[in-house]
Amino acid sequence: MFDVNRIRKDFPILEEEIYGKPLVYLDNGATTQRPLQVVERMTEYYLRYNSNVHRGVHYLSNKCTDANEQARETVREFINAVSTDEIIFTRGTTESINLVAHSFGEAFIREGDEIIVTEMEHHANIVPWQMLCERKKAVLKVVPFNGKGELNMEEFGKLLNERVKLVGVAYVSNVLGTVNPVKEIIDAAHAFGAYVLVDGAQAIQHIPVDMQALDCDFFAFSGHKVYGPTGVGVLYGKRGLLEQMPPWQGGGEMIKEVRFEKTTYNDLPFKFEAGTPDFIGVIGLGEALEYVKGIGLQDIASYEHDLMNYAMEQIRTVPNIILFGEAAEKSSVISFGIGGIHHFDLGTLLDKMGIAIRTGQLCAEPVMQHYGVTGMARASIAMYNTREEIDVFCEGLRKIEKIFKL
Ligand code: PMP
Repeated sequence: MFDVNRIRKDFPILEEEIYGKPLVYLDNGATTQRPLQVVERMTEYYLRYNSNVHRGVHYLSNKCTDANEQARETVREFINAVSTDEIIFTRGTTESINLVAHSFGEAFIREGDEIIVTEMEHHANIVPWQMLCERKKAVLKVVPFNGKGELNMEEFGKLLNERVKLVGVAYVSNVLGTVNPVKEIIDAAHAFGAYVLVDGAQAIQHIPVDMQALDCDFFAFSGHKVYGPTGVGVLYGKRGLLEQMPPWQGGGEMIKEVRFEKTTYNDLPFKFEAGTPDFIGVIGLGEALEYVKGIGLQDIASYEHDLMNYAMEQIRTVPNIILFGEAAEKSSVISFGIGGIHHFDLGTLLDKMGIAIRTGQLCAEPVMQHYGVTGMARASIAMYNTREEIDVFCEGLRKIEKIFKL
């Protein structure tokens, strides 16, 4: 059974006090906290086994190599990919998307081709495509969203044609919390021969994902948003597609044979992993996914769904609240403002109460432009948050609203 109090014990930071107040951490969309299990596993590897992977014949190197490859299998199973050849370790979602923009872009994008993204993407799923379009003289098209923060699927349908080579879409918007109909998008894009990259940065920790059922071509996520370490993430790609893509970065480990006349490249997934990877980060990510699996992502999802409903109900009772994003399918993120109060003041005053939220443009300036605002405040939940914390947060908002009204 899902037991939030037991889970909280694994996260010592949740016991911290900020300015003498118990920490209420509601900035999980930016980064989640790490459980003891992850930190301890990484510490063990740093202190007892550290040695470079895939290179040595000695005990320590083999130990790290085995753990690195075990983590790859853990990721494969977690997202139900067909093969570990399809799991490439990167620095995070941003690097995963840049890898695709460079390598897939090199092999598949020609002048006049079209790439579709949505108006609610994080900058990480906009800028690499803009740069690719500039390099290749391709065209970027944008699917708008409506007043509730849901994608306009009719417009998406109209944008699809044979020139579209790739669609990039967030599974869950980091501003609006909208859970996009990615399966529908993937099937519609495939019908026109376009490939689909799903930005899973805000989904991997909240929604069970299955690469074979989704049938997306690429899926990207970051370790630090799923209770794992920073500096490590994953690019999933379908094997047949990855095989047709050239390496992105050159160096050690990604080669088969190096000759000045001609160098040949390594097999998947190593072809895309040049240089020494953050293998202890990878091992930590494996541990984080094991931890999540141990609790059960389905149970996490239903607990968080209930908590989200409660949070939305409560925040609606705050006077002068403005909510951004009220999609029918919504997960984990509440972006808001209070009439007449700058988002920066909101964040600063909540901080003084021990409550951590995010403020600003949330790496999604087009969403800010959509609403005509300079920034927003955002509370984002994780599996260790509680109704009591939501109460403290909403009480804090009420106090701030009152202070500004005086
Ligand atoms: N996409 C989305 C939807 C995100 O929320 C984030 C992180 N805020 C990213 C991409 C980028 O992730 P990272 O900074 O870990 O590369």
